[in-house]
Amino acid sequence: MKEFDYIIKGAGCAGLSLAYEFNKYKKLENKTLAIIEPREGYERDKTWSFWKTIDHNFNDCVIKNWSNFTINTPGKTLHLNCDETPYQTINSGIFYEKIISNLKLNSNIHFFENIDGINTEKSLIFNSVPNKGDFNNKLWQHFFGIEIETSKSFFDDKIFNLMDFDCDQRDSVHFFYTLPFAKNKALIETTWLSNLNNKNLQDYENQVKEYLELKLKIKDYKITFKEKGAIPLFKQTRIINNEINIGTVGGMTRLSTGYTFLNIQEHSKYIRENLDLIKNKKAFNIGKKYHFLDEIFIRVLENNPNLMPDIFYKMFKVQTKKVINFLSNKSSLLEDLSIIMKMPKLIFIKALFK
Ligand SMILES: Cc1cc2nc3c(=O)[nH]c(=O)nc-3n(C[C@H](O)[C@H](O)[C@H](O)COP(=O)(O)OP(=O)(O)OC[C@H]3O[C@@H](n4cnc5c(N)ncnc54)[C@H](O)[C@@H]3O)c2cc1C
Repeated sequence: MKEFDYIIKGAGCAGLSLAYEFNKYKKLENKTLAIIEPREGYERDKTWSFWKTIDHNFNDCVIKNWSNFTINTPGKTLHLNCDETPYQTINSGIFYEKIISNLKLNSNIHFFENIDGINTEKSLIFNSVPNKGDFNNKLWQHFFGIEIETSKSFFDDKIFNLMDFDCDQRDSVHFFYTLPFAKNKALIETTWLSNLNNKNLQDYENQVKEYLELKLKIKDYKITFKEKGAIPLFKQTRIINNEINIGTVGGMTRLSTGYTFLNIQEHSKYIRENLDLIKNKKAFNIGKKYHFLDEIFIRVLENNPNLMPDIFYKMFKVQTKKVINFLSNKSSLLEDLSIIMKMPKLIFIKALFK
């Protein structure tokens, strides 16, 4: 049986970010690491975006930064500025390539398709393998998007559209998300916040096609990439002796928004800085107050889907910097309060006591 000092189960965003952090800060010069990942190869499968509220290791994987964005509800548009914390997009294909080629240079790092033949008893294990189970009746952010190229200039590539709620809601919460990478190139996604039981919401290709052709009036385009995903908006953590959970299963997803990428980066840094004592250290979390506030928010969303476009719109009417800090788990109590004050109080108080 082979033995390793560290084992990372699952080499997606969190597993690879952690391995890269270890390698970058020379934590693997006298230690061995096994990475367990069943994928046969890596290609672009996700587009990770976030407001850059902290520094991270992947500036060279960023394909676009924006300082301006909009939010729409029927008949209303908010124009917002975020130049202090630009919104960044990372192409996962570039991210995977950067990390894998870096890790392969270190002979103390070994890749395996499964854990058979490895003695795990003495290793420190970091686990990012998604939980299996029938979670369809829970709340998910599920989405489908296409990246298109148009023959003529069409988009304003200086402004992205975070949420366009001016669309069919089907008694659920639905918006379109548009990231214009160039004047003739953009990612357009249809996004739902709902459980996954309702298959009627999942005619995604049709939704995007209609949005493009009827709303944006784009008929002549070429599809260059497709992205489909579902992010759990419920706690995923599981407890296995001797394992530290990372990534989505490690509670790094913000339940109200699905944002995870930067939380994964902060968690990797925390583990690397405390590696020798990590078992005795307080488990890293994204902030108890955010779990508490997000759970109330989710209850409001589940009981009042029809109010959500207006609630999101009102939230962004608070000073943009405060909202971004709140959504990126970097807000002060005063900033939290200014957002809470803008919410419909009775509905949130009811949800608090449910
Ligand atoms: C399409 C998509 C777009 C997203 N966009 C954003 C975004 O814009 N911004 C943001 O902040 N977050 C975003 N997220 C959320 C989050 O950042 C990602 O889901 C991120 O990939 C989570 O990282 P992870 O390591 O927890 O999971 P993953 O990246 O899914 O990694 C888990 C790994 O475990 C592997 N695995 C599975 N079974 C086993 C097994 N039995 N043994 C070993 N390995 C196994 C998988 O192959 C995979 O590589 C997005 C999610 C999706 C799905």
